[in-house]
Amino acid sequence: MRCLSCRRLAFSPICRHCRRLSLAPWPKLRRLGCGLDVVSFYSYDELEPFLLSKHLPHGWLVYNIIAYETFKNVDIPDKEIYALPIDDDSSGGYSHTALLAKCLKRRGYTPLWSVLRAQNRVSYAGQPLSFRLQNPRKFSYSGPSGIEAVLVDDIVTTGLTLQEAYGELRRNGVEISTAFVLADVDR
Ligand SMILES: [Zn+2]
Repeated sequence: MRCLSCRRLAFSPICRHCRRLSLAPWPKLRRLGCGLDVVSFYSYDELEPFLLSKHLPHGWLVYNIIAYETFKNVDIPDKEIYALPIDDDSSGGYSHTALLAKCLKRRGYTPLWSVLRAQNRVSYAGQPLSFRLQNPRKFSYSGPSGIEAVLVDDIVTTGLTLQEAYGELRRNGVEISTAFVLADVDR
């Protein structure tokens, strides 16, 4: 196969050279209006060639590499903290957010699968903020209450999806301090 970034022949979709060059995570904090701290590891542009493969047959492999390289230096929590993937729906073959949460498991987080689901999955791609506001995700949470967790998603744009998920979790007694996302479109 060819490397998605440099197009050279390689044994994996992201060659060793590009892993070193392109997957050098640089954590940055953005605080949303609701008080949620969003930690992103790349700008969207840096990851775009890889993120665009999300729905291709080898997308899961690409996400696995990115997730591994991104989270391998995340601090191990000193108490039980759950990792909640945003809407880990696998109807497209695999769930990219579930895959990210699985990589956080290696860092000591406890993933909770299929408990935070969106009831509205209309595409936001290319839509203005007004459209997003008129078409909320309508999250429903079915997991345990009285726990501490981090949210996990791949991209943050306006932050509306994360804020909505945060609201639903707070209503259900889940303490959320941080969201981990791969890329922030705003940075
Ligand atoms: Zn390459």
